[in-house]
Amino acid sequence: MRLSRYLKIYPCPDQPDQSLLYSTKRSALLQLPEATLQAVLDGTVAGADRDALARLGFLVPDAEAERLEMRDIFVNANKSRRQFNAVVVLNLDCNLACGYCYEDNFRGNFYMSSDTAELLVETVISGHMEKGHDALLSFYGGEPLLGIGLIKDIAGRLLAAAARTGTKFSFSLVTNGTLLTRELVQELKPLGLTGAKVTLDGPRETHDASRPFASGSGSFDAILDNVAQICDLIRLNLGGNFTRENYRSFPALLDCLAARGVTPTRWLKCNSRRL
Ligand code: SF4
Repeated sequence: MRLSRYLKIYPCPDQPDQSLLYSTKRSALLQLPEATLQAVLDGTVAGADRDALARLGFLVPDAEAERLEMRDIFVNANKSRRQFNAVVVLNLDCNLACGYCYEDNFRGNFYMSSDTAELLVETVISGHMEKGHDALLSFYGGEPLLGIGLIKDIAGRLLAAAARTGTKFSFSLVTNGTLLTRELVQELKPLGLTGAKVTLDGPRETHDASRPFASGSGSFDAILDNVAQICDLIRLNLGGNFTRENYRSFPALLDCLAARGVTPTRWLKCNSRRL
């Protein structure tokens, strides 16, 4: 038996002799004594512990079979939908230098090649749009807007394919928000832009401490200006990283947003006639 490859293992801050195991496959959380975890990692876990972990899907008999099982789940889920959804990682480049960036070791001037972009477009068209499926892409990075040429190229070609195949194409962005100006949104909407997910880690002081520009200066003002300028144009999904150190600043962030007119109903008010 082996540990499932779809597990994240975290320490328990209040109980150093325990670990938390999160299964991304089952959406299940398990608290495990260190000794049991070590036995699992050593391959020596046995008896009731092994049986319980296997029953819960944290231990699997064959790692490759589990990978294929997951692939089949996605393939079948996509087959049963009329809409094809995909997250497209465009680059590993970024203009911010967030202290917690999980891409830190890989970040750099790496962009999707034109060959890969071509393969993506062809796969979406022949594998999905020509079969009558709508396509929804989410561009991700790094900071995807540093690859704006790639976005325009991919979106333009898929939009043309949608017109040809009688399907719909749209896309969203997972962006740090620093480059998402009103002018750019107005330019991208005709290409299919419908929404963006932007991260704010708190009000100015808190956010700037965790999400500075690569130059070291704060990014909060640039992001809030952009968010306030575009929240009537596209659906905005605001997220943030809040820990026990900064969560008390959350209400102050809401005050900042409200003061700039960024409210949950703003987009709806501006677009209700189009719904
Ligand atoms: S914006 Fe995202 S990719 Fe860029 S440094 Fe921050 S966490 Fe990393």
